Amino acid sequence: MIADHLQHVRQQIVQACQQAGRVPEAVTLLAVSKTFGADAVREAYAAGQRAFGENYIQEAVDKIAALQDLPLQWHCIGPIQSNKTRLVAEHFDWVHTIDRLKIAQRLSEQRPTDKPALNVCIQVNIDSGPTKAGVPPEEALALAKAVAALPRLHFRGLMTIPEPAPDFVAACAVHARARALFDALNEAGLQLDTLSMGMTQDMEAAIASGSTMVRVGTAIFGGRPPLRPASA
Ligand SMILES: *Cc1c(COP(=O)(O)O)cnc(C)c1O
Repeated sequence: MIADHLQHVRQQIVQACQQAGRVPEAVTLLAVSKTFGADAVREAYAAGQRAFGENYIQEAVDKIAALQDLPLQWHCIGPIQSNKTRLVAEHFDWVHTIDRLKIAQRLSEQRPTDKPALNVCIQVNIDSGPTKAGVPPEEALALAKAVAALPRLHFRGLMTIPEPAPDFVAACAVHARARALFDALNEAGLQLDTLSMGMTQDMEAAIASGSTMVRVGTAIFGGRPPLRPASA
Protein backbone atom coordinates (compact mmCIF):
# COMPACT_ATOMS: atom_id res chain seq x y z
CA MET A 1 0.00 0.00 0.00
CA ILE A 2 2.54 2.61 1.15
CA ALA A 3 5.02 1.21 -1.39
CA ASP A 4 2.47 1.72 -4.19
CA HIS A 5 1.72 5.25 -3.04
CA LEU A 6 5.42 6.09 -2.87
CA GLN A 7 5.91 4.72 -6.36
CA HIS A 8 3.07 6.89 -7.63
CA VAL A 9 4.38 10.04 -5.94
CA ARG A 10 7.85 9.42 -7.37
CA GLN A 11 6.32 9.14 -10.83
CA GLN A 12 4.48 12.41 -10.31
CA ILE A 13 7.75 14.08 -9.33
CA VAL A 14 9.54 12.71 -12.40
CA GLN A 15 6.72 13.91 -14.65
CA ALA A 16 6.57 17.34 -13.08
CA CYS A 17 10.33 17.66 -13.50
CA GLN A 18 10.15 16.61 -17.14
CA GLN A 19 7.42 19.15 -17.83
CA ALA A 20 9.51 21.83 -16.16
CA GLY A 21 12.70 20.85 -17.98
CA ARG A 22 14.36 19.86 -14.72
CA VAL A 23 16.23 16.67 -13.86
CA PRO A 24 14.33 14.45 -11.39
CA GLU A 25 17.36 14.40 -9.07
CA ALA A 26 16.81 18.13 -8.50
CA VAL A 27 13.83 17.38 -6.26
CA THR A 28 14.02 15.46 -2.97
CA LEU A 29 10.95 13.71 -1.60
CA LEU A 30 10.37 14.22 2.10
CA ALA A 31 7.78 11.75 3.45
CA VAL A 32 5.68 13.46 6.11
CA SER A 33 4.89 10.76 8.67
CA LYS A 34 3.21 12.88 11.38
CA THR A 35 0.38 11.03 13.18
CA PHE A 36 1.47 7.73 11.59
CA GLY A 37 3.30 5.09 13.61
CA ALA A 38 6.77 3.61 13.38
CA ASP A 39 5.39 0.67 11.37
CA ALA A 40 4.29 2.99 8.57
CA VAL A 41 7.77 4.53 8.49
CA ARG A 42 9.32 1.04 8.33
CA GLU A 43 7.10 0.22 5.39
CA ALA A 44 8.18 3.38 3.57
CA TYR A 45 11.82 2.63 4.38
CA ALA A 46 11.44 -0.86 2.89
CA ALA A 47 10.17 0.86 -0.27
CA GLY A 48 13.34 2.96 -0.44
CA GLN A 49 12.34 6.14 1.40
CA ARG A 50 14.98 7.65 3.72
CA ALA A 51 13.93 11.21 4.61
CA PHE A 52 10.95 11.76 6.91
CA GLY A 53 9.23 14.91 8.18
CA GLU A 54 7.54 15.34 11.55
CA ASN A 55 5.55 18.22 13.07
CA TYR A 56 5.05 17.31 16.71
CA ILE A 57 8.30 17.15 18.64
CA GLN A 58 7.46 14.62 21.34
CA GLU A 59 5.71 12.29 18.89
CA ALA A 60 8.77 12.51 16.64
CA VAL A 61 11.29 11.84 19.41
CA ASP A 62 9.43 8.66 20.39
CA LYS A 63 9.28 7.53 16.77
CA ILE A 64 12.95 8.28 16.15
CA ALA A 65 13.85 6.17 19.22
CA ALA A 66 11.70 3.28 18.00
CA LEU A 67 13.40 3.40 14.59
CA GLN A 68 17.01 3.80 15.68
CA ASP A 69 18.01 0.60 13.88
CA LEU A 70 17.32 2.26 10.50
CA PRO A 71 19.54 4.89 8.76
CA LEU A 72 16.82 7.54 8.45
CA GLN A 73 17.05 11.30 8.04
CA TRP A 74 14.62 13.27 10.24
CA HIS A 75 13.27 16.70 9.36
CA CYS A 76 11.41 18.93 11.82
CA ILE A 77 8.68 20.75 9.87
CA GLY A 78 6.51 21.92 12.77
CA PRO A 79 6.61 25.03 14.95
CA ILE A 80 9.29 25.01 17.68
CA GLN A 81 8.84 26.60 21.08
CA SER A 82 11.90 27.60 23.10
CA ASN A 83 11.42 24.80 25.62
CA LYS A 84 11.62 22.20 22.82
CA THR A 85 14.82 23.32 21.11
CA ARG A 86 17.05 20.88 23.03
CA LEU A 87 14.99 17.87 21.93
CA VAL A 88 15.10 19.12 18.35
CA ALA A 89 18.85 19.81 18.42
CA GLU A 90 19.54 16.35 19.83
CA HIS A 91 17.28 14.23 17.63
CA PHE A 92 16.73 15.81 14.23
CA ASP A 93 18.96 16.19 11.15
CA TRP A 94 17.07 19.11 9.63
CA VAL A 95 14.80 21.95 10.78
CA HIS A 96 12.61 23.74 8.20
CA THR A 97 10.80 26.14 10.50
CA ILE A 98 13.29 28.74 11.74
CA ASP A 99 11.39 32.03 12.00
CA ARG A 100 13.32 33.89 14.69
CA LEU A 101 16.95 34.22 15.63
CA LYS A 102 16.44 33.20 19.25
CA ILE A 103 15.31 29.69 18.27
CA ALA A 104 18.24 29.35 15.85
CA GLN A 105 20.71 30.47 18.55
CA ARG A 106 19.36 27.91 21.01
CA LEU A 107 19.52 25.13 18.41
CA SER A 108 23.13 26.05 17.61
CA GLU A 109 24.11 26.11 21.30
CA GLN A 110 22.33 22.85 22.04
CA ARG A 111 23.46 20.86 19.01
CA PRO A 112 25.52 17.93 20.40
CA THR A 113 29.21 18.16 19.45
CA ASP A 114 29.31 14.55 18.26
CA LYS A 115 26.74 15.30 15.55
CA PRO A 116 27.23 17.25 12.31
CA ALA A 117 25.87 20.78 12.12
CA LEU A 118 22.07 20.91 12.09
CA ASN A 119 20.70 21.66 8.60
CA VAL A 120 18.22 24.52 8.75
CA CYS A 121 15.80 26.41 6.53
CA ILE A 122 14.09 29.69 7.28
CA GLN A 123 10.31 29.59 7.05
CA VAL A 124 8.94 32.49 5.01
CA ASN A 125 5.32 33.67 5.17
CA ILE A 126 5.27 34.14 1.42
CA ASP A 127 1.56 34.96 1.04
CA SER A 128 0.91 36.60 4.43
CA GLY A 129 -1.27 33.60 5.23
CA PRO A 130 -3.50 33.70 8.31
CA THR A 131 -1.39 31.12 10.17
CA LYS A 132 1.26 33.88 10.35
CA ALA A 133 4.07 31.35 10.75
CA GLY A 134 7.32 32.39 9.12
CA VAL A 135 9.13 35.69 8.61
CA PRO A 136 7.81 38.26 6.16
CA PRO A 137 9.78 38.02 2.88
CA GLU A 138 11.47 41.40 3.47
CA GLU A 139 13.01 40.09 6.71
CA ALA A 140 14.34 36.85 5.24
CA LEU A 141 17.74 38.18 4.16
CA ALA A 142 18.66 39.63 7.55
CA LEU A 143 17.58 36.50 9.39
CA ALA A 144 19.37 34.26 6.88
CA LYS A 145 22.64 36.16 7.38
CA ALA A 146 22.39 35.84 11.15
CA VAL A 147 21.47 32.16 11.00
CA ALA A 148 24.23 31.35 8.50
CA ALA A 149 26.77 32.79 10.97
CA LEU A 150 25.83 30.40 13.79
CA PRO A 151 28.56 27.78 14.30
CA ARG A 152 26.53 24.61 14.79
CA LEU A 153 23.92 25.25 12.09
CA HIS A 154 24.25 24.67 8.35
CA PHE A 155 22.00 27.17 6.60
CA ARG A 156 20.37 25.43 3.61
CA GLY A 157 17.55 27.59 2.34
CA LEU A 158 13.89 28.56 2.60
CA MET A 159 10.63 26.82 3.40
CA THR A 160 7.06 27.94 2.69
CA ILE A 161 3.52 26.74 3.44
CA PRO A 162 1.26 28.93 1.30
CA GLU A 163 -2.50 28.87 1.65
CA PRO A 164 -4.20 26.41 -0.73
CA ALA A 165 -4.54 28.06 -4.15
CA PRO A 166 -7.66 27.73 -6.33
CA ASP A 167 -5.77 26.33 -9.32
CA PHE A 168 -2.39 25.43 -10.77
CA VAL A 169 -1.66 28.87 -12.19
CA ALA A 170 -2.43 30.61 -8.90
CA ALA A 171 -0.30 28.09 -7.00
CA CYS A 172 2.60 28.70 -9.39
CA ALA A 173 2.31 32.46 -8.90
CA VAL A 174 2.80 32.14 -5.14
CA HIS A 175 5.58 29.56 -5.45
CA ALA A 176 7.36 31.75 -7.99
CA ARG A 177 7.61 34.51 -5.35
CA ALA A 178 9.37 32.05 -3.04
CA ARG A 179 11.73 31.03 -5.83
CA ALA A 180 12.52 34.68 -6.59
CA LEU A 181 13.37 35.28 -2.94
CA PHE A 182 15.54 32.15 -2.92
CA ASP A 183 17.42 33.43 -5.97
CA ALA A 184 17.77 36.91 -4.46
CA LEU A 185 19.36 35.52 -1.29
CA ASN A 186 21.79 33.48 -3.37
CA GLU A 187 22.67 36.61 -5.33
CA ALA A 188 23.22 38.41 -2.04
CA GLY A 189 26.04 35.97 -1.33
CA LEU A 190 24.33 33.40 0.86
CA GLN A 191 24.59 29.79 -0.26
CA LEU A 192 21.18 28.20 -0.53
CA ASP A 193 20.59 24.78 -2.07
CA THR A 194 17.16 23.98 -0.62
CA LEU A 195 13.75 25.41 -1.40
CA SER A 196 11.30 23.36 0.67
CA MET A 197 7.85 23.88 -0.84
CA GLY A 198 5.01 21.79 -2.18
CA MET A 199 2.74 19.28 -0.42
CA THR A 200 0.27 16.66 -1.67
CA GLN A 201 -2.07 19.25 -3.20
CA ASP A 202 0.46 21.54 -4.86
CA MET A 203 3.63 19.56 -5.47
CA GLU A 204 3.43 19.81 -9.27
CA ALA A 205 3.06 23.60 -9.12
CA ALA A 206 5.90 23.80 -6.59
CA ILE A 207 8.20 21.73 -8.83
CA ALA A 208 7.25 23.81 -11.87
CA SER A 209 8.27 26.88 -9.86
CA GLY A 210 11.65 25.59 -8.69
CA SER A 211 11.09 23.67 -5.47
CA THR A 212 13.99 21.38 -4.52
CA MET A 213 12.18 19.50 -1.75
CA VAL A 214 8.53 18.51 -1.60
CA ARG A 215 6.96 17.48 1.72
CA VAL A 216 4.31 14.86 1.04
CA GLY A 217 2.16 13.17 3.67
CA THR A 218 -1.38 12.30 2.55
CA ALA A 219 -0.43 10.93 -0.88
CA ILE A 220 1.98 8.48 0.78
CA PHE A 221 0.42 7.53 4.12
CA GLY A 222 -3.25 8.34 3.55
CA GLY A 223 -5.58 10.81 5.26
CA ARG A 224 -5.06 12.13 8.77
CA PRO A 225 -7.72 13.04 11.33
CA PRO A 226 -8.74 16.65 10.54
CA LEU A 227 -7.81 18.10 13.91
CA ARG A 228 -5.06 17.37 16.31
CA PRO A 229 -4.08 19.27 19.43
CA ALA A 230 -0.72 20.98 18.97
CA SER A 231 1.37 18.90 21.34
CA ALA A 232 4.57 20.45 20.02
C1 LIG B 1 1.41 18.01 7.18
C2 LIG B 1 2.42 18.80 6.46
C3 LIG B 1 2.85 18.45 5.17
C4 LIG B 1 2.23 17.32 4.38
O1 LIG B 1 0.95 17.66 3.96
P1 LIG B 1 0.10 16.72 2.97
O2 LIG B 1 -0.96 17.60 2.48
O3 LIG B 1 -0.42 15.60 3.83
O4 LIG B 1 0.99 16.23 1.92
C5 LIG B 1 3.86 19.20 4.58
N1 LIG B 1 4.42 20.26 5.23
C6 LIG B 1 4.03 20.61 6.46
C7 LIG B 1 4.70 21.77 7.12
C8 LIG B 1 3.02 19.92 7.11
O5 LIG B 1 2.64 20.31 8.32
